[in-house]
Amino acid sequence: MPYVVAAPCVADYSCVEVCPVDCIHPMPDESGFDKAAQLYIDPGKCTDCGACEEACPVTAIFAHDQLPAKWVHYARINAEYFHVQSAEPIDG
Ligand code: SF4
Ligand code: SF4
Repeated sequence: MPYVVAAPCVADYSCVEVCPVDCIHPMPDESGFDKAAQLYIDPGKCTDCGACEEACPVTAIFAHDQLPAKWVHYARINAEYFHVQSAEPIDG
């Protein structure tokens, strides 16, 4: 289960600095950096290490299966940023 960035993100990039596989974007050297309202985790590359969750100062990152109900759709929002299919369960 990949981790997911949800609504509280303030784009301070603390998570980017600790992610061992650079799967949180946009990174500061990427286009779109200036306009990013929040960051997103690539569900196809996240290794579920949990480092970003611990680093986030505003509790914006959750394991996919622990997203609060009001933010479950952020799994899809994160996946769509990378143009990949969401990891949301299909049985429900
Ligand atoms: S859980 Fe680990 S690999 Fe996944 S986005 Fe967070 S820091 Fe990166
Ligand atoms: S550490 Fe939290 S607030 Fe900062 S960019 Fe990452 S998800 Fe957003």
